[in-house]
Amino acid sequence: MKDLQELVRPNILALKPYSSARDEYKGIEASVFLDANENPYNNPNNRYPDPLQNELKALIAPIKGVREEQIFLGNGSDEGIDLVYRIFCRPGTDNVVAIDPTYGMYQVCADINDVEYRKVKLDEHFQFRAADLLAAADEQTKLMFLCSPNNPTGNDLSHEEILTLLRQFQGIVIVDEAYADFSEAPSFLSRLDEFPNLIVLQTFSKAWGCAAIRLGMAFASPEIIGLMNKIKYPYNVNRLTQQEAIHMLYKHPQVLQWIKSLQEERTRMMEEFRKLPCCQTIFPTDANFFLTRVTDANAIYNYLVHQGIIVRNRTHVSLCHDCLRITIGTRPENNALLEALREYKA
Ligand code: PMP
Repeated sequence: MKDLQELVRPNILALKPYSSARDEYKGIEASVFLDANENPYNNPNNRYPDPLQNELKALIAPIKGVREEQIFLGNGSDEGIDLVYRIFCRPGTDNVVAIDPTYGMYQVCADINDVEYRKVKLDEHFQFRAADLLAAADEQTKLMFLCSPNNPTGNDLSHEEILTLLRQFQGIVIVDEAYADFSEAPSFLSRLDEFPNLIVLQTFSKAWGCAAIRLGMAFASPEIIGLMNKIKYPYNVNRLTQQEAIHMLYKHPQVLQWIKSLQEERTRMMEEFRKLPCCQTIFPTDANFFLTRVTDANAIYNYLVHQGIIVRNRTHVSLCHDCLRITIGTRPENNALLEALREYKA
């Protein structure tokens, strides 16, 4: 990896960040807060929240096996994706490399930030070779995006190929592990100290069952986390979100139970899908969804909509013609889908 200072946009390195009222009194014992122009009459919970979410990070760190200074929390992992572009990529000059197909927001954030987005197609097993991504990169390539398990294909990417990229790429490698809780593959979190160019993204939206509160996690070196904190909005994670996440972290055993149930339902759903006349292929998955090639994705998607069942039509996505992406739901929801598809007539 290049020196971090060389990778960061010069204006971000030079930036004097906003300092909020609640940043400044850090560590001082006080009982009268007349510093932030709040209205004192309402419930104290409606005061500004902790800008760095320290209580929450202290609970996340031991569960994830990382140090608190290796954690950034944001408004969904999408905030982390956008911040990383704004830290490293000069608009109109720099570029990023990503696998294709993958999660759509990497490209949307590139387009918003006026950063060239270079796609490298996965092979027929939805795998990639590090050499192909490295060949697509040049001096202006700042980031590489990998998503494992990958969305929309569902499979884990090769651990070895990701390691090769971490060793050989001169820029930052982002490994999006939004669905890693459903996979048996080891997380890259344990490699953070070894690779200063690694950023791991995870989220409360999937296994934790908290998509509504919008809480995403980025894990990286304290230097990279410091840069993310430097440019984030002052109070980017609201108090209700912090409270609900703390509540969920105490319910971790329940979350592990949910994951096990979803994995079992996943196995059952895939077995049942194999028997459906409209199903041509089911691709292997390590996530809480699977991709299936059907006889006619548009027709079946519309048929399901009329039955009040919404799945994700991916037929227009590269390598995914006539594919539907199916999220594993509750047993009754899954049965409703199976029942509808058993009755489908082309
Ligand atoms: N990464 C991947 C791979 C995703 O599929 C999603 C959501 N669909 C996200 C990130 C965004 O998650 P969040 O809700 O944390 O913004």
